[in-house]
Amino acid sequence: MAKVIIIGGGIIGLSSSYYLRRAGHEVTVLDKGKIEGNCSYGNAGMIVPSHFVPLAAPGMVQQGIRWMFNRKSPFYVKPSLNFRLISWGLKFLAHANSRHVEQSAVPLRDLSLLSKRLYDELAMEPGFDFGLKHRGILAFYKTEQAAEEEAHLVANGRALGLDMEILSAARCRALQPGLELDVLGAAHYRCDAHISPNRLMALLQENLVANDVVVVEEHGVSEVISSGGRIRKIIAGGREFEADEYVIAAGSWSPEVGRMFGLNIPLMPGKGYSFMEKDAKRRLQIPALLCEARVAVTPMDGSIRYGGTMELGKLNRQVNLNRVRGIAEAVPKYFPGLRPLMPAEKDIWYGFRPASPDGLPYIGRSARLSNLVIATGHGMMGLSLGPATGKLVSEVIAGEITGMDIGAFSPER
Ligand SMILES: Cc1cc2nc3c(=O)[nH]c(=O)nc-3n(C[C@H](O)[C@H](O)[C@H](O)COP(=O)(O)OP(=O)(O)OC[C@H]3O[C@@H](n4cnc5c(N)ncnc54)[C@H](O)[C@@H]3O)c2cc1C
Repeated sequence: MAKVIIIGGGIIGLSSSYYLRRAGHEVTVLDKGKIEGNCSYGNAGMIVPSHFVPLAAPGMVQQGIRWMFNRKSPFYVKPSLNFRLISWGLKFLAHANSRHVEQSAVPLRDLSLLSKRLYDELAMEPGFDFGLKHRGILAFYKTEQAAEEEAHLVANGRALGLDMEILSAARCRALQPGLELDVLGAAHYRCDAHISPNRLMALLQENLVANDVVVVEEHGVSEVISSGGRIRKIIAGGREFEADEYVIAAGSWSPEVGRMFGLNIPLMPGKGYSFMEKDAKRRLQIPALLCEARVAVTPMDGSIRYGGTMELGKLNRQVNLNRVRGIAEAVPKYFPGLRPLMPAEKDIWYGFRPASPDGLPYIGRSARLSNLVIATGHGMMGLSLGPATGKLVSEVIAGEITGMDIGAFSPER
């Protein structure tokens, strides 16, 4: 059995540790901060096989440019001469076409369905109650244009064998009787599910520690010593760590970690916000996506979590209150009875989605360093794709034929 070091304790790092440990390996997780602060906690908790269209898709560029001129819009890129941003943007442009969308659909669907099956298995394990619910997601729309886009998505999803359907406003009301709706209709992504990410992350960490995985917080990797095409040791928090195999699962920090290994991992952080409000009467039962506003609304542990926005470019600690206001103000346009109050700044969570320029994650062995595996770049779907990624990482490290073809996710593409 191998000694494995995982760099990063988000959902990707913890899922990889879980499957590696189950396969009998000796695992250490290193994180530069407290694990509780990362992107895998405050997200919308959606498990989304319906998301088989990568972010790099036709129409995203024009839509993105329109949004850039609105302070409350769900998407923002600060124009800058930053080389990494320009290089990422050019790669994104090269992939925002229908051929790329068609080529990505099957690999993304298969990765998502594998992950959903693994979430089902995990939920059966004693003590693993992370609020998994199979109620699907309702993607509500108010305009004819969004209705057309959703009809197209549902037709393609059904052709891929996914359970999705277009519903009239009346059928939506029957599904969500406790809530007033002001919508034209919705796509019901019945293939989707939702969970409580905070509970999942805490339970995973507990399970790992109970099974002798060593979790070392506040030990950021700062140096890598390699020779002969292999990593010999790494320095984290001033200490030396040695292993047979290493995994980069550092989310939006993977490019800077990658540089220490002499690698270029093209990623941009896509900052998003969320906040919670109590829903004592549990009016919201089915998670919702508000299509035009790009807002996610999820019932979670007796509260509702509202999330959204994508500020592409920088890892910073600033909270852009205008964008959070944009989320809060969008909600009553679809649910007139839900009027989330603008939260105090201290109650606003933010995280950085590790966005690859073609919208697909990187999963696989590095061609440059023979004992390094890369598992990052899951963008808007990291929670959803966590278990599948973890399982595949454990298979790659074992040198096994992977349970699914991971060619589309090659870090060398
Ligand atoms: C508002 C919002 C809503 C979202 N909703 C959903 C959703 O509904 N469904 C879904 O599937 N996804 C969703 N996502 C995306 C999802 O949250 C991310 O894709 C996922 O959390 C990324 O996980 P990760 O493990 O790659 O990164 P992270 O969770 O960011 O973990 C990376 C870890 O690496 C550590 N690290 C960094 N540098 C170093 C270093 N030098 N040494 C050691 N450790 C280091 C960091 O401290 C961090 O803990 C959402 C994201 C946002 C922002």
